[in-house]
Amino acid sequence: MPYKINDKLKNMTPYEPIEGNYRIRLDANESFLTVTEELKSEILSAVSGVRFNRYPDPYAKELCALFASYYGVDSALVTAGNGSDELICLIISAFLQKGESLLCFEPEFSMYSFYSEVAEARCVKLGKGDGYRIDPAKAIETADAEGVRMIVFSNPCNPTSTALPREDVLKIIDGSGDRLVVVDEAYMDFYGQSVLDEVARRDNLIVLRTCSKAVGMAAIRLGFAIAPKRITDALRAVKSPYNVNSVTQAIGCAVLSHPQEISKRVEKINASRDMLADALHALEKEYPGELHVVAHEANFAFVECDSSAELFDYLKGRGIIIRYFGKTLRITAGRNHENAELINAMRDYFNEKKDDKNA
Ligand SMILES: *Cc1c(COP(=O)(O)O)cnc(C)c1O
Repeated sequence: MPYKINDKLKNMTPYEPIEGNYRIRLDANESFLTVTEELKSEILSAVSGVRFNRYPDPYAKELCALFASYYGVDSALVTAGNGSDELICLIISAFLQKGESLLCFEPEFSMYSFYSEVAEARCVKLGKGDGYRIDPAKAIETADAEGVRMIVFSNPCNPTSTALPREDVLKIIDGSGDRLVVVDEAYMDFYGQSVLDEVARRDNLIVLRTCSKAVGMAAIRLGFAIAPKRITDALRAVKSPYNVNSVTQAIGCAVLSHPQEISKRVEKINASRDMLADALHALEKEYPGELHVVAHEANFAFVECDSSAELFDYLKGRGIIIRYFGKTLRITAGRNHENAELINAMRDYFNEKKDDKNA
């Protein structure tokens, strides 16, 4: 008898990144800013100081202290991870037991339901309704009715780029009783209504942060979980001991030692996002019924568009890559000329479509 892959794995397929060389990549919500030459030389010197024959610091103490100081939290409540992705996997698989339930929303970042499947947890999905925003009262009502043990959402949300005001997030935490609430703030630098400061006062809150977006360091895989002491202890107990490698720790320390650089980057990215959003709104007026700009509260815009698949292919043909999900598009803010090229290509597409209709 051949070895049999178990039921939960047998229908899974490896993650497929978008292949091919595109001139303009607006598909992954990364930062369009590369590191400055000064920072690059600091990074290289930090890496050359790494003791390659030794295991890394299991608690990444220096790194967590720098993170804590930039975001104004207690470093005793910070755990570093190999990307926040690792932390999401860890939290879902360790804080839920087999068969326990998790409340997610729809549309949302797909990794929450993906990891809950691997963990054999039950993922309850609540549709977000009009405007793609979470309704706190409905969320609590559903959590109660379904007996969930954990609520997870991103704020601002990927892919919808909608954000929930801080008071609404607090309503969800307040109404959650003994449930764990995980707020993934991967894009919070762009919106500025974090609940990080609440962690010290709560016993059921985990906030996730990443260096992959505003900080512009997706390549090094670095994320953080900020949680009350009891939860932090449990997280540290269950994580793999050397989860964040020494090279990443050294580079992360170099980058987080320049807080004013990070703030400057956020400003530049927000300016690009505003430019992209204004241009998309202008297209919406120019071509009524073709597209509707839903939101742009992170470093990307979310757009409803009936011809999303066709437009996606058209842009690909022009060397521009974005994301589409059903009848919606997610477009990352890029450099000024990249945003401009995208908008021009979209305009060409809508013009050609109009000509075809009139022909
Ligand atoms: C990009 C993103 C992350 C970041 O994951 P990393 O593993 O830290 O790169 C986490 N959550 C959401 C919602 C994201 O969009």
